[in-house]
Amino acid sequence: MSRSLPPGGTIGILGGGQLGRMSAMAAARLGYRCHVYAPEAESPGMQVAAAATVAPYEDDAALTRFAAAVDVVTFEFENVPAETLATLAPLAPCRPGVEVLRVCQDRLAEKDFLQRAGVPVAPWRAVEDLAGLEAAIAVIGLPAVLKTTRLGYDGRGQAVIRHPGEAAAAFARLAPKPLILEAFVPFVAEVSAIAARGEDGAAAVYDAVENRHRDHILDLSFAPARLPAPVAEAARGHAQRVAEALGLVGVLALEMFLLPDGQLLGNEIAPRPHNSGHWTMDGCAASQFEQHVRAVAGLPLASPARHHDVVMKNLVGPDGLARWPALLRTTDVVPHWYGKSEARSGRKLGHANRLLALGSLSTLEDEAALRGL
Ligand code: AMP
Repeated sequence: MSRSLPPGGTIGILGGGQLGRMSAMAAARLGYRCHVYAPEAESPGMQVAAAATVAPYEDDAALTRFAAAVDVVTFEFENVPAETLATLAPLAPCRPGVEVLRVCQDRLAEKDFLQRAGVPVAPWRAVEDLAGLEAAIAVIGLPAVLKTTRLGYDGRGQAVIRHPGEAAAAFARLAPKPLILEAFVPFVAEVSAIAARGEDGAAAVYDAVENRHRDHILDLSFAPARLPAPVAEAARGHAQRVAEALGLVGVLALEMFLLPDGQLLGNEIAPRPHNSGHWTMDGCAASQFEQHVRAVAGLPLASPARHHDVVMKNLVGPDGLARWPALLRTTDVVPHWYGKSEARSGRKLGHANRLLALGSLSTLEDEAALRGL
């Protein structure tokens, strides 16, 4: 697909979650149809899509039919098997491509990639066996964080090792192997930035945000991050450099740790719209989902300029469900609900964006910034 996709074209989305749902809603506004492919029926993405395929990611016949029904393929979560994208690649343009998926599915490849792209990271070592873990601890020191290299998210698949005596149990508990040991980062804040990159190589990078987690799940994003301007610019620059080094066509989030001296360390790349970019839906003329659709469809990117400051609150599990009625009655709060069938604990059900006047967030204490959320 060398030209842009005309209105009426169909974007295939692998994955049925809320990121695909919000991408499909942005696509609809630009005149596109979406076809969602996921193993789960009735998924949030399928509820708003023009077409759906319910099939395993390993079903070659279903993938072939899917490729024939769409003009371009994208994904909404990076744990889609790389083989699925490799099967689709000869049949339809895939954006981002399988190489991006391979880097971001493996924490070892990802750390290596970040370093090569010029983004500093915490010291790390690959760990194959217990002897390797002991050797890695000897180099990196304690405390350190032992993580699975694949399929980890929201803090799953990791253990903090504070004393040498905890190493064997942590190694035994975490699977699949190999693992990665990272130095424990004494961060003062967690920061992320969303970068979009178009087919023509143009970039659009949103303001960096500060993220706060609860039970390892994103709870709040403050947009913009309350950081000195050079640090905020460095965060955006890191995200843009990673998008360029990946040759990305789409959007990514780069999650970073802020050290007390103002240095930023890259932690994780999510090569898709990201929870910490949900504020862009109401804080910018073009959201991260619209940028993703524009990039995937070969359209020019839109401006990432912010017209409001935003505090984004995730609505998670029963607590999120309980907050919903009040949020609907609160002025200056834009609520979003994902249509999930159950309000299980730990499940992201929706989010709410509190709009604040441009430039006002930096002057507010937390309590005032969070009022109404
Ligand atoms: P991750 O799965 O890598 O995004 O990690 C989930 C969360 O664990 C991060 O958002 C941090 O709060 C924490 N974390 C991960 N890696 C480290 C580290 N090397 N040092 C300190 N905290 C970490």
